[in-house]
Amino acid sequence: MTGVESLVCRECGRHYTMTFRYVCEECFGPLDVAYEISAVSRDAISAREHTYWRYSELLPVTNRSNIVSIGAGMTPLLRAERLGERLGLRNLYIKNDSVNPTYSFKDRPAGVAVSKARELGLKAVGCASTGNLASATAAHAARGGLPCHIFAPSDIEMAKIVQALSYGANYVAVDGTYDDANTIAAQIGDSRRIGIVNINLRSYYVEGSKTLAFEVAEQLGWQAPDHLVIPVGSGAMLNAICKGFEELERASLIDDHAVIHPHAAQPQGCSPVVDAYRGDGRVVPVARPDTIAKSLAIGDPGDGRYVLKRLEQYGGHAQMCTNSEILDAIQLLARTEGIFTEPAGGVAVAVLKKMAEDGTIPRDETVVCYITGNGLKAIDSIMSVLTKPETMRPNVAEIAAVIK
Ligand SMILES: *Cc1c(COP(=O)(O)O)cnc(C)c1O
Ligand SMILES: [Zn+2]
Repeated sequence: MTGVESLVCRECGRHYTMTFRYVCEECFGPLDVAYEISAVSRDAISAREHTYWRYSELLPVTNRSNIVSIGAGMTPLLRAERLGERLGLRNLYIKNDSVNPTYSFKDRPAGVAVSKARELGLKAVGCASTGNLASATAAHAARGGLPCHIFAPSDIEMAKIVQALSYGANYVAVDGTYDDANTIAAQIGDSRRIGIVNINLRSYYVEGSKTLAFEVAEQLGWQAPDHLVIPVGSGAMLNAICKGFEELERASLIDDHAVIHPHAAQPQGCSPVVDAYRGDGRVVPVARPDTIAKSLAIGDPGDGRYVLKRLEQYGGHAQMCTNSEILDAIQLLARTEGIFTEPAGGVAVAVLKKMAEDGTIPRDETVVCYITGNGLKAIDSIMSVLTKPETMRPNVAEIAAVIK
């Protein structure tokens, strides 16, 4: 099976032991977890627990007793025939990560980071959040018996605040942008030795998002799809999914001639990665993000330049969509496939639609669209395009008259 893990600098390649560190001392580059991978058996994995911890050889927790699991992962990969028909795609799949325990994909990175925090002996955890990470971190902290400190912009959806508070987190609502909350979390995390899952535990955090590659491959019968449509906020998820497929190849779990094309989806109003892709490749931070896709409202994406590298490496593209395209796409997905997503998922579907229409994604190739969050978390923005049903008297004749 697999063995020794270490941290390796993404920029200069220097190796470190797996401790509580996340930037390279030489060049300040981000550190990634590297594994000494030998072949892993497909059958052994298939027989294991129905959570993302089934891929434990490729996750950075050494002692299983440190794992904090709320049962996240192994979410459905659904063949989307009706949506595919509408978009002219013959082999479309939806990875429905909106049905994780806290209703977003963030249960993956948060669960791995909180587990690693326990392994590193940290006494408290926290995060900087655009909403979903707050709940995911708070829930895992509760189950792991650790205090949790959330730093988030004050204007995120109420449902996300209520959820994180209910898990018992200390919630700091910052009157500013996500980037303001992130800066504050970074400083307090370092000075108080708090494990901030997406900052000083980021090397471990991204390992959780990688399981979005592992599960899709396993659910496709150990195959890589041709195209992946991925919503991009910080860019950590897109980068991690690419790392995941590379590790599957090295572990001989998928064929080594598989070629994926990851595509980045962002909302207009906060699209620094798409702008860089269309421009000179340099990511210019957006000072004041303005979009209904609040989960993606990260003006200065930490992994933005690495997303651009991945798009270049794999021939991926980047595309954006407007608020009204997002709301239309939420309805389209719900009405064709019975999946209710928040605006971040609407961004993925809206961009998928554009890429199918303009031929970026050819009709016969295998496509996976990642639906990363649940519509129940953003009902106010979604309700704005719906008509509230009229209240009627409980009278059969009157009601029968309006049933067509
Ligand atoms: C955080 C988030 C994203 C973006 O993930 P990054 O790793 O920051 O790029 C996408 N969708 C949802 C629902 C999220 O909460
Ligand atoms: Zn370095």
